[in-house]
Amino acid sequence: MPNRFKAALHLHTTYSDGELTLEELKARFQKEGFQCLMMSDHAESMTPEGMERYVAQCRALSDDQFCIVPGLEFAYPFESGSLHLLGYGVSRHRREEEPVEMVNTIHQLGGVAVLAHPYPPLLPQIAPMKGTIDGIELWNTKYNGRIAPALWNYQLLKEVRRLRPEVLGFYGTDFHWKTQYAGLAVWIEADALTPASLLAALRNGKFYAEKEGMRLTPDGSLTSDQKSSFERKERFYRLWRKMVVGARGPFKALRLPIPQRLKAMARKVL
Ligand SMILES: [Zn+2]
Ligand SMILES: [Zn+2]
Repeated sequence: MPNRFKAALHLHTTYSDGELTLEELKARFQKEGFQCLMMSDHAESMTPEGMERYVAQCRALSDDQFCIVPGLEFAYPFESGSLHLLGYGVSRHRREEEPVEMVNTIHQLGGVAVLAHPYPPLLPQIAPMKGTIDGIELWNTKYNGRIAPALWNYQLLKEVRRLRPEVLGFYGTDFHWKTQYAGLAVWIEADALTPASLLAALRNGKFYAEKEGMRLTPDGSLTSDQKSSFERKERFYRLWRKMVVGARGPFKALRLPIPQRLKAMARKVL
């Protein structure tokens, strides 16, 4: 019978631009009952040697109680913005020139390819990936904020699933900072607490996300109550974000340090 493991997805450490070391990250999440971390440090900050150390450390910090699965996040800058692609389970450093090729390479390396925090201006670049990606991040609690997902992402998944129903909705913390929100858990139903079993479960949609008592499924379905509440909250969040980001403006313009309180607030909404 499969077990249910509490996991956090989409995490950064000092191997890229995260604040915590891998060891500190483990301690932080283990304290809150998590048993598994799906890593995604930025590929662009990783050298092949660094990657070897990273993978070895993930392994060294894993045992029968806790599993750290290495992985990378690949960034592709376009004029309309940056397209980010997650390769969960990737344990070798390879980076292709085009995101479409990267999806194939992630598959060859045994990983799960998930489009991270997409947004509408990137649609032309996303289009060629629709035929091969494994998933789309529906709610990234750093990027979309902690109060509601981006409903556009749900729309995108719906569209992709019409042709390929096997494409799944993912939920990520995009953890970078010590004080960052980490109240989103992904419960993975796997045979064992090992990278291979956990990745297979992710690939097969054997998971669901849980956030403050709310259950979110990989098929991206929402109840009508959830939908209308998210619509309301998303509007409010956009305003709040504008305000906090706007408040930093004068400090930046005058090249003054941004006050700690404001920095902390911005980190909560950005
Ligand atoms: Zn990203
Ligand atoms: Zn990220």
